[in-house]
Amino acid sequence: MEKYNGWTNYETWRVNLELFDGYELEETITSIFDFQEYIKEFAYEAITSYGEIPEDSLAVSYASAFINAVNWYEIAESIVDSNDKFICEDCDGVFDKKDLHHYKYEPEIELCESCHDDRMEE
Ligand SMILES: [Zn+2]
Repeated sequence: MEKYNGWTNYETWRVNLELFDGYELEETITSIFDFQEYIKEFAYEAITSYGEIPEDSLAVSYASAFINAVNWYEIAESIVDSNDKFICEDCDGVFDKKDLHHYKYEPEIELCESCHDDRMEE
């Protein structure tokens, strides 16, 4: 599939740029999937101007169609990365990069301490 400026598609690129560029991660995130849902909710709130525009309006309906094409995981991952955090491959938790553990000699396998210890015990 063709990418747009390095992102999955135009919708993902634009939503990231306009709503999440420079996002500072202050929340404690236990799972990347929860965070993905969180930013999706945030975007839906934004397109109704936080409840100002009725959800059944044509404008919101068109905007929903636009943001439904967004790759939320890609944006969530990018926010995590630009905030010096990483996603543990085993538990999907989000941790500080200083606590990153690689599995044996495989730098592409990024794990939190507890998942790393679990794998070493196997
Ligand atoms: Zn983990």
